[in-house]
Amino acid sequence: MTTFPFSAIVGQDEMRRALLIAAVDPSVGGVLVFGDRGTGKSTAIRGLAALLPKMKAVAGCPYSCDPGQPAESCPHCAKGGPRKSGLVPVPVVDLPLGATEDRVVGALDLERALAHGEKAFEPGLLARANRGFLYIDEVNLLDDHLVDLLLDVAASGVNTVEREGLSVRHPARFVLVGSGNPEEGELRPQLLDRFGLAVEVTTPTDLPTRIDVVRRRDAFERDPDGFCRGYERADRALQKQLTAARARLPGMDVPDATLEAAARLCLALGTDGLRGELTLMRTARALAAFEGADIVAIDHLKRIAPSALRHRLRRNPLDEAGSTARVTRAVEQVFSQ
Ligand SMILES: [Zn+2]
Repeated sequence: MTTFPFSAIVGQDEMRRALLIAAVDPSVGGVLVFGDRGTGKSTAIRGLAALLPKMKAVAGCPYSCDPGQPAESCPHCAKGGPRKSGLVPVPVVDLPLGATEDRVVGALDLERALAHGEKAFEPGLLARANRGFLYIDEVNLLDDHLVDLLLDVAASGVNTVEREGLSVRHPARFVLVGSGNPEEGELRPQLLDRFGLAVEVTTPTDLPTRIDVVRRRDAFERDPDGFCRGYERADRALQKQLTAARARLPGMDVPDATLEAAARLCLALGTDGLRGELTLMRTARALAAFEGADIVAIDHLKRIAPSALRHRLRRNPLDEAGSTARVTRAVEQVFSQ
C-alpha cells in the first residue's frame, strides 16, 4: 500500500511539528493528538515513518534490533549465532483498543509450551514497535493500567515481562503517539502529564485549505504513485533535515538564559513538578536542531510552549480560558518583562 507523503499534508502545522520533534529526539516523550476524527492523524504518522531513512536491523530478530548495539541487550541476539543485517522501514504499529495486555507486552508461546514443553516467549506489539512508532487511536478509551504500562516502557525503552515462569527483558524504544477525542472520555491528569507533547487538530475552516485537502486526497487516491512522485523531492529534503537535526542534537547548547526563561514560564503557569520544564527544554532543543540553529533561543521556547505545556495545567475554576490560551497569555506576560 502506498503511503500519503508527509510533505503533501496540508495545514496541521502544530501536529506535524510535534511529530518531527519526536522523531528528532524521542526522549521528549510521546505525542498526544487531540481532535476531530478524519483530521489525518494516522496519515501523518505513517507519512513521517515512511520518509525516515530505513534502519539497519538484525535479520530475523523479532525486535529488529540495531546490529551496532551489543547482542547482550537483546534476548534473541544474545543466544549467539551470526547477526546478519538488512535495511528495514521504520515500523508503525497500531495498538487496537481491544488488545489484551498479553498481546501488547508479549506472552508465553502456548503452542510451543503444549507441543514441545518449551517455555518460549512470543513477542507482542511492543517488540514490533521497537525503534519506530506506536500509534493508539482513541487512547482515552484504553484501560488506564495499559496506558500507564505503555508510558513506562516508552520512558525506559525496555519491556520487562515476568509471568508463568518466564522472565524476558527486551528493547522497546518507540515514540508513543496517542490520539483522543476529548468529548469521548478523559485521560487522568497523571497520565496526561506523562506525554511529552500535546497538540490540537481541527478540521480546517478556511475555504482554500479545505479545497486543497480534498484536491490532494482525490489526486492521491486516483494515482498514488504519480502523486507521490510529485512530493519525492520535498520528502527527501525533509529527510535530510531530520538526519542533520539528529546528528546536531547531542552538541546543542542550551544557554542559562533559556533555562531560566523555561523555569519562569512554568512557575507562572504553576505546572506540577519539573517534568514540564524538562520537556520544554528538550522540545525547544529539538526544534532548534531541526531548524539548524546553533543555540536554543528563547524564541524556540516561546513557539513550542503550547505543545509542551497545555496538558500540564491544573484546572482553575476561576479561569474560563482554555489551556492553550492560558499558555499563550503566560508566554506574553513572562517574556514582555
Ligand atoms: Zn536482536
